[in-house]
Amino acid sequence: MTIYGRQSAWKGLVPFFEAGKFCARATCETCGGHNTWRSERGGDPSISVKRARQSGWRLGRITCPDCVAKAKEKKVNTKANVTPIKADTQIPSPDARQKRRDAHELIALAFDLANGIYKDGYSDARIAKETGLSEDWVAKRREDEFGPLKEPDELAALRAELVGAAQTIAQVQAKFEALSKKMGWAA
Ligand SMILES: [Zn+2]
Repeated sequence: MTIYGRQSAWKGLVPFFEAGKFCARATCETCGGHNTWRSERGGDPSISVKRARQSGWRLGRITCPDCVAKAKEKKVNTKANVTPIKADTQIPSPDARQKRRDAHELIALAFDLANGIYKDGYSDARIAKETGLSEDWVAKRREDEFGPLKEPDELAALRAELVGAAQTIAQVQAKFEALSKKMGWAA
């Protein structure tokens, strides 16, 4: 957990404040190209994630629109040589099924449905570690079948305060820089 909320919710975007504005930056893992989205509204990852996707970026393994297009082109060109994957290869192995059953059982035991929090020090990450599944898989399963995680009220209140403080610092800094420039005073 950071002041910007859960790291995983950003899907690889990097949140920060600049000149009093909330920003989210994406850096393409293929070519290094980057883009930044600024918004007046505070650190809600779902807004930045939506905007990035709308501009054609692929998140998770961050890929810029150019590299997405190139990858698609390559796929089309090589399609003729690729044997289609048979549907039955998608069925999980008995081992994977066991892991999923274990994870399901752990979520059911440790997740407090009414309050949207894990009990006894459990988390998506811990269940992923204990069962050998990915954290994304556990988080999705928990979201789909048990519900979303709710940040404890005390933490949510402090986090909102931190975001507000960070915003204030960024605004004062922007004012300072603008005035320094105006007065010919090296910032
Ligand atoms: Zn790229």
